[in-house]
Amino acid sequence: MNARLPIVAEPSPGCALPPVILERGQREVFCGLTGIVWLHRKIQDAFFLVVGSRTCAHLLQSAAGVMIFAEPRFATAIIDDRDLAGLADAHDELNRVVTRLLERRPEIRLLFLVGSCPSEVIKLDLGKAAAQLSTRYAGQVAVKHWSGSGIETTFTQGEDACLASLVPGLAHTDEPGLMVVGSLADVVEDQFARHFAALGIGPVHFLPARRAGQMPAVGPNTQLLLAQPFLADTCKALEARGAQRLSAPYPLGAEGTTLWLQAAAQAFGVDPARRANVLGPLRERAARSLAHHRQQLQGKRVFFFPDSQLEMPLARFLARELAVELVEVGSPYLHRNLLDAEWPLLPDGTQLSEGQDVERQLDRCRTAQPDLVVCGLGLANPLEAEGMTTKWSIELVFTPIQGYEQAADLAGLFTRPLLRREKLGAGRSHIPIVGVPLSAPLQPTAA
Ligand code: SF4
Repeated sequence: MNARLPIVAEPSPGCALPPVILERGQREVFCGLTGIVWLHRKIQDAFFLVVGSRTCAHLLQSAAGVMIFAEPRFATAIIDDRDLAGLADAHDELNRVVTRLLERRPEIRLLFLVGSCPSEVIKLDLGKAAAQLSTRYAGQVAVKHWSGSGIETTFTQGEDACLASLVPGLAHTDEPGLMVVGSLADVVEDQFARHFAALGIGPVHFLPARRAGQMPAVGPNTQLLLAQPFLADTCKALEARGAQRLSAPYPLGAEGTTLWLQAAAQAFGVDPARRANVLGPLRERAARSLAHHRQQLQGKRVFFFPDSQLEMPLARFLARELAVELVEVGSPYLHRNLLDAEWPLLPDGTQLSEGQDVERQLDRCRTAQPDLVVCGLGLANPLEAEGMTTKWSIELVFTPIQGYEQAADLAGLFTRPLLRREKLGAGRSHIPIVGVPLSAPLQPTAA
């Protein structure tokens, strides 16, 4: 647990950035290992070997909900006290585990060694292990490493660390092209590919690709369009390879999706008439699909606890397309540069917060008594017991929410808990949530 620091109101650079409450206290956020839940479904010939403890194994097993007889694309090599006897032994043990794994699963083409927080694991040099294994399995399996440790990463930072680990291995290209960065559900990726094709933008590649051998090349003529706002390290690594990021809001809602696609269209010199012809009808249809959600959400007061780093784009969507009133928009980190096209779209005076001091934030939430609280699993049950209506933020990561066709589904994730509360009656405030299937339709998105 970190020491409490006083709340500081950050002075706004320029006039548009809303005030930010900075907090560095106790956090209630998943660790970066959670990203494996959607990443292992996205890269179909990759395997994630967590080097960790039984806690890590339990987290993954329960979050990903894999049946015991299935052949999952992740596992945990449990390092325990026995391994403290000698680091050489631990490295040998890791080599043995990897050898057994690759013999048993010859279809694996990309192996991630994923670090975690136990002190025994921190002492291991996973970078060196990955380099040695890469040499040994050259031409057969690429071995990368990243950390999903709860000490270093929160929730969606795991995806950032994973994608950043891929960048040094990407081929070089001088060809102009667009790279969409951030994992999206396959169905969403296919829709975007069709929109880019209709706009005449190409070639378009996605990072991560669905297969290890199809990862995109990068170079000085690569334009980056981020699909997720939490990919700071990946973006930095790609920029170091010469690529340029296109500033855009994120593709959530009819407006966000349009502005995101327009940023690419502008960079690739697509004629404004063609942009309007292609995107106009799609935007109108998506906006129409939001109409009945707007009736239900208009004027509702929503409070975001920090969790997925998607909070600011989600808040922008709720405020601008569904007339929601934002009480507080908390996020574990606010990457100012990656959000440069988001915050100017927020309503004036939106209260942002970065980091967390959970008790203080709970106090603010209780005082505000919002209509809906978007928060992590650990806070939802107690808040429901206090009579508040909650939405699990993890669902916003595990559900395909980007793009025109998903705009209404995204809005529905916010209307559903309000309707549930309405049906159960405002008087019956104690509604424990039990047994909600985290393993239910998990789709790779961003997380
Ligand atoms: S990486 Fe750390 S925080 Fe995450 S499950 Fe393992 S022990 Fe827990």
